[in-house]
Amino acid sequence: MRADLRELIASPGKKLDFSFVLDSADLSFDGVLRFLTPVTVKGVIENHAGHITLTGVIEADMLCQCARCLKEFPMPLRRELAAYLAEELEDEDNEDYYLLEDGWADLEQIARDTLILNFEPRILCREDCKGLCPKCGRNLNEGPCGCGEDPDPRMAALRQLLERE
Ligand SMILES: [Zn+2]
Ligand SMILES: [Zn+2]
Repeated sequence: MRADLRELIASPGKKLDFSFVLDSADLSFDGVLRFLTPVTVKGVIENHAGHITLTGVIEADMLCQCARCLKEFPMPLRRELAAYLAEELEDEDNEDYYLLEDGWADLEQIARDTLILNFEPRILCREDCKGLCPKCGRNLNEGPCGCGEDPDPRMAALRQLLERE
């Protein structure tokens, strides 16, 4: 979605609310199987004495897969949007600055960039997910599998000796 800000740029103090659905067909993230709801983007663009700011939020529900135990689970997505819009870039290294084109802002691009730059690199079903047993494949969050250490310490010592040879 593109927004015409020409009137807002000319009127300090003015605000413009926006709301749209982000096309998620080509959005793919590691660990996200699919979006369960439309990806909605809502916010407001304001002219603060000539400085144009954009704030808002991106929201959706996602179906994710844990990177450790491979369990599928729903997870809400929520990302804050905060950007400055300018007709000329004062600081080219500032990622939060977006250039206006003849007074128009590409809100879809801003939302996409915000999602991509702030996506968690590894999605887990819970922070302390124990993952799968490398031997038998059991989900260790559901309990131990019996492939662990031998309960008899003498057997463990013997096994260590054997493994050394
Ligand atoms: Zn997990
Ligand atoms: Zn096991």
